[in-house]
Parts: sequence; C-alpha cells; structure tokens
Amino acid sequence: MAIAKVEPLLTTRALRGPFDYRLPASLGDVGVGSVLRIPFGRQRILGVVVDVAETSDLPPERLAEPLEALEAGATPEMVRLGLWVAHEYCSTPARGLELVLPPGTGRSGRGPGPRFELSASLTPPGREALAGGVRLGPVQRAGLEALSGDGELAAAELQQVGVDTRALRRLEARGFIELHRTERARRPAIVDVGARSPRPELTWDQKVALVRIVTGMDGHDGRELLLHGVTGSGKTEVYLAAAQAALERARGAIVLVPEIALAPQTVSRFAARFGDRVALLHSRLTAGERRDEWERLRSGEARVCVGPRSAVFAPMRDLGLIIVDEEHDSSYKQEGDPRYDAREVAARRAEQAGAVLVCGSATPRPESWERMPRSDLPERADGAPLPPVEVLDMRIGSGREGPLHRRTIEALTEVRATGGKAIVMLNRRGWSPHLDCRACGRAWGCPECDVSLVVHRRDERLRCHHCGYAEPLPSSCPDCGSVTLARHGAGTERVAELLAEAVDPLPVFRLDSDSAAPAGAHLEILRRFDTSDQGVLVGTQMVGKGHDFPDVVLSVILDADATLRFPDFRSEERTFALVAQLAGRSGRGQRGGRVLVQTLAPQAPAIRHAAAHDAEGFLTSELERRRILGYPPFSHLMRLELTAPEADLAEAAAQLAHDRVQGRLPAGVALLGPAPRFRLRGRHRRQLLLKAPERDPAVAAVRETVDDLAGSRTLRGVAISVDVDPQ
Ligand code: ADP
Ligand code: ZN
Ligand code: ZN
Repeated sequence: MAIAKVEPLLTTRALRGPFDYRLPASLGDVGVGSVLRIPFGRQRILGVVVDVAETSDLPPERLAEPLEALEAGATPEMVRLGLWVAHEYCSTPARGLELVLPPGTGRSGRGPGPRFELSASLTPPGREALAGGVRLGPVQRAGLEALSGDGELAAAELQQVGVDTRALRRLEARGFIELHRTERARRPAIVDVGARSPRPELTWDQKVALVRIVTGMDGHDGRELLLHGVTGSGKTEVYLAAAQAALERARGAIVLVPEIALAPQTVSRFAARFGDRVALLHSRLTAGERRDEWERLRSGEARVCVGPRSAVFAPMRDLGLIIVDEEHDSSYKQEGDPRYDAREVAARRAEQAGAVLVCGSATPRPESWERMPRSDLPERADGAPLPPVEVLDMRIGSGREGPLHRRTIEALTEVRATGGKAIVMLNRRGWSPHLDCRACGRAWGCPECDVSLVVHRRDERLRCHHCGYAEPLPSSCPDCGSVTLARHGAGTERVAELLAEAVDPLPVFRLDSDSAAPAGAHLEILRRFDTSDQGVLVGTQMVGKGHDFPDVVLSVILDADATLRFPDFRSEERTFALVAQLAGRSGRGQRGGRVLVQTLAPQAPAIRHAAAHDAEGFLTSELERRRILGYPPFSHLMRLELTAPEADLAEAAAQLAHDRVQGRLPAGVALLGPAPRFRLRGRHRRQLLLKAPERDPAVAAVRETVDDLAGSRTLRGVAISVDVDPQ
C-alpha cells in the first residue's frame, strides 16, 4: 500500500503535520511535490505530498484517500527547500511550501491556467465552397476569403475583418474550416532602456572572477564568490558571461536583483543577451504572466530567471548559478511570514544543487566580506577615476543655511552656469517631519502609532509614514488656538522647492514614493531627467539605485548620518552603503564629477570611509567593532515580537515568552528584553532579542516556544512574529 505524507496548505500553527493518506492507483503518478485535494476534517483543501511511504502508523480504516491530484506541483528538491525555509525562519510548513508551488496554488485553490489562442484554417470542402456555388452569408464568405490565402489565421486577426468566434464555429460546423487551440504564453513587457555593448572583451580582473565561477560550476572547489567592485567596474558583464557559461553546460541561472522597477538596465541587458531564454518573475506581473513565466522555467524553455528575492524559488532544474546583485540591499529580506533572507536561501539552494553562488556589490555586507572568498574589480571599466568627495559639516556655526550648506548652493549655481546635471538625495519624504505649536508645545503625532506626523504641503495633509493615516493640515492649534505652528526639518518636498529657487530656471525633478506612486511614474521621471539638457533630480534613495546618467557632474547627499541615529547595530553599514553607493555612481562619462556629503557627524567612520571610497577600510574596522560587541557575523540574532491592542497584554505575553524561551535556551545565549518598541497601527509592541553563538539550538528554542504559545488561550489577541537574522 502506498501512503502519502501530506502537509495541508493551512497556516494554523497548532497543526502537527504531515498527515497520512492512502494513495489509490486510480490517482495516477503521485510523488513528493504533488498537490492533492484532500478531505481534512469537514473541509476539502489542498495539501502537498512531502514524503511517500509503504506503511502508516494509523490502522488502514482510519486512512482517507485524496479526492484528486492536481497537475501542477513542485520538484522534491524544491519541497525540501520550502520546508527548510519554514523550519529555519520559524514559520509553518504551509507558508514555506507556498513559496515553491506554482503561482496561485494555495489555500484559496489553484492559480490561473494556460492561455489558449484560437486559430482557423481552410479545409478542402471550404475551398470548394468558396469556388463553387454554395450559399454563404457575407460574414462567412469574408471568413473563407480571408483564409484562402496561405495557411492559418488567429481568431483575433479574423475578428478584425468582422468574423467573430460565433461565425467561425458555424463554419467549423459546416466542415469548411478547422479550428485549432494552441497554448500561447503571456509574456511580461521588458522595458527597453537601450541596453548597450554586445560582449566586450573581458578585462584581466573580470576574467579572473569568471574563471573562479566556472571552475566552481565544473565541480571543483569554491562554490561561492563575492564580487566586489564599484558601479561601472563591470560586474554585470561578469554575471552575463557566467550565465552564458552555465547555459553552455546545459545548466540554468537565477539572477536576483533588489527591485525590478529599479533595475531595468540589468533586466534589459540579460534579455538582450539571452532573448527568450530569459524569464522574469516579479510581483508586478499579472497572474497569467506569472503562471506562464513560471511554466517556461519549469519546462526548461527558459533557462535564466531574473527577478527580486522571490525568484530564488524559480522552478528550474539543473541549476548552475545563482547571482545576487547589490547583495547589501535590504530588500532581500522578506518582511512577511516567513521572514526569509533570499541571500541565505540562495546559499542553501546553491549548495543543494551544486551551483555557484555569486554575490556582487560595491558595498558588501560585513557578513559576506568575512565569510566568502572574494574577487575585486578595483577600477571602472571605462577607466574613469572615482569622483572626489567633500564632507560638509552641518553642525551649528559651520556655514549652514537651512537644509542646504553654502557650498552646496555654490556647487549647484556652478552646475547651472557651466552645464550638466545634479542629483540630490535626502532619505526623507514630505515637506517637514515634525509640526508643533510654538505657543503651547503641542506636537502632532499619529493616533495609531507613536511617531510624528509628517507635513505634506502640496496636498495639505499630515501623514503617518508608518500606517498611512492622514489628516488635514491644521491652520491653528486645537488646544490653545495659536496660529504660530512650526514646521521642523526638511523632506524631499521642501528641498525640491529650495533647489528650484537655487537653480532657477533649471527644471527640478522629484523622485520619491509620493511622486512615483502611479504605475510607471518612476520611469517617466527618470526619463524626463535623462532627456533634459540640464536639471536637478532630487529624491529619496530611489535616486541612487540601478541607473546611471553620464552627464551628472554633481551628487549631493543631505543629512547623510540620519541612518546613523537609528539605535541598530547595522546603522554603520547602512550609512556607509548609502553614501558610498551614490558617490560611486557619480562622475561617469567624460566630464568627471564631484560629490558633497552634508552631515552632522563628519567624523563618523562610516562617513569618512565612504568619502574616501574605502570599502575595505570600512569593513575591516566595522568587523572589528562587531567582533568586540559580539554581533553578526560573530553571533546569530533572533528577534521575537509580541503585539497586542493593550499594553498590559503585550507586556504579559512578552514576559511569558521570555520565561518560556529562557527555559529552553542552551548556555551562552544572551536573551534581552522584553523591551518596548513604538506603538504601530494601534498595536503595542514588545520585543525579545537573542544573541546566540550557535544558530540551530537557538532557532529550535524559539520555534518550540512559538508553537507552544500559539495554542495558549491566555494569549488571545496577541500576535507573535519571529525574525531570524533581523535587518
Ligand atoms: P557594473 O555592473 O559593475 O555596474 P557593468 O558591467 O554595467 O558594471 O559595466 C559598466 C559599463 O562598462 C557598461 O557599459 C559595460 O558595457 C562596460 N564594460 C564592462 N566591462 C567591459 C569591458 N571588459 N570592456 C569594455 N567595456 C566594458
Ligand atoms: Zn497650542
Ligand atoms: Zn501611524
């Protein structure tokens, strides 16, 4: 007797699967990865086969049979990967499995099916009918005439000459035509951004990196490589050559990029090089497109997959290569359940498949620097030097004029006078981040979250940037009636206006998630900036990502240390990446360029090293700091967050969780908290932090605790989330 061990696609934590089902022969070929419709209690739901066995612990009469087997499924390797993710990130098997199943397969049912296209061709009787005296209506005659040329026509084409599907069916019934249904993949549009240069001869450094990748692929040592090089040093050329090498070995490649909308250049270069062998998987595809791209990968028609973090689960066989471009980018961490890190999943999958993992960045993470063998691309491919960076001290009494330093204004005026373009980055949107009453001191905060409301002047509203709450901008204080309300600080909206004055009459383009909210607006803003003769692009970190403009001669970063003020051990790393990324992107093309960094912390190592384009110096000192403090990569962090509508409940739950975890932890693990975090979306939050020298026992302790608490009645209304390797 064959027994299928099935994980139901239900995310309730209290379930302890897998469950045994008897497999009748009539169900056909069912194996690990098959999706079955199963009776489950009183419901009928979908489940995934995670194992097949000969016997069950249950007596035969208690075993139910599946109702049907779906056509779609996952490979055993991918089932293993999905379960690993669930386990490693303390989630449920269902959530892990959903990541590797065909798009749309889940609790709600199956996803969209294939699209068929109808086409018609003339039969011999049809040809005779047209020639001879058979009576034909005008529509039918038009149809036969259209088809009397050569071969087959699509129904859509016939529609254009007035022959609709009903007419075609009638012609078919009379035996005059044959109708054919063929599967036609829905393909996503690839934005053409003029991908350039077919296959340049690789430089020595690029060849060295490539050889190491290919050697790894051919089964020798070295299955991981960190490719370190500034923007323009030729990393993407190495990725392209490595993917080519994989294809030549009949193996596939996955190319992960931070955000598809911010990486049109990378996508279009891969599409230009590999054509139909490239598939795209990202969240902006329609359900049909996603299903068809997924299917092209599964069937092996497409062998290169480009996409953001979820593309690490692309269903390709014989994987030879996984590339993680801009590996420092925080978007590789999934924020929902499971909170997986695509870089870790990529490493795991590469190991499973015997594939090579390549991580590329100008500003690698300390973890990767410490852990991975490395190839450097120390120079830009065009030989241009990196631009000089000047740090501007914004502390009181050092020549500052509001949000813009005097030197910044001078440099902008110079750009206006001598031609060229400038980019200004400020990682804060809106007009100003705080509003308060001069008379009574009232400050405007979000009613749902413990944060300030941000002034948005154009739409005259105060907005919460955490939950989306908005209210009209007040003209007087509701507490004391005073009309002297003060706006503190500046966001992109206000800076855009200041810049417009400074560089008048040059155009100023603002790029942030407010201005780029409508679909496609983001590319349109970049296109307008690109095609105008002169101008200034101002925005959040979106302006520093994924695209380069050769005629930018000045880049400015405002409030460069804002990220340093977060109480987080990664703030140094983030600040360095932010400044170094924009600095490294400037001064491409003939005219060179310069970079200005405005900051309140001119002496901070992250700022000083970034200004010197010194990634190695930064990483060396940062790793030393982490070694002393026992932070990753010298330990593993885990965060447990408990939230509840009332503060008391959140506190009690956190205390309970603390005690339960404590009891399970091996010696040497530090458990910190419960510590309050700011209230968010009306929920009070408490967090526990674990710092563990060894990963597996600590993850196991957290997982058991969460499973255990999930069933507890006293914790009704409490939500628990686990973040392994929090960012
Ligand atoms: P990165 O990915 O590091 O930003 P790219 O691969 O995009 O770098 O290379 C930057 C530019 O230099 C591109 O226009 C690319 O075509 C060109 N380039 C890269 N490698 C070479 C090379 N070996 N010879 C000539 N041009 C090159
Ligand atoms: Zn007041
Ligand atoms: Zn809010």
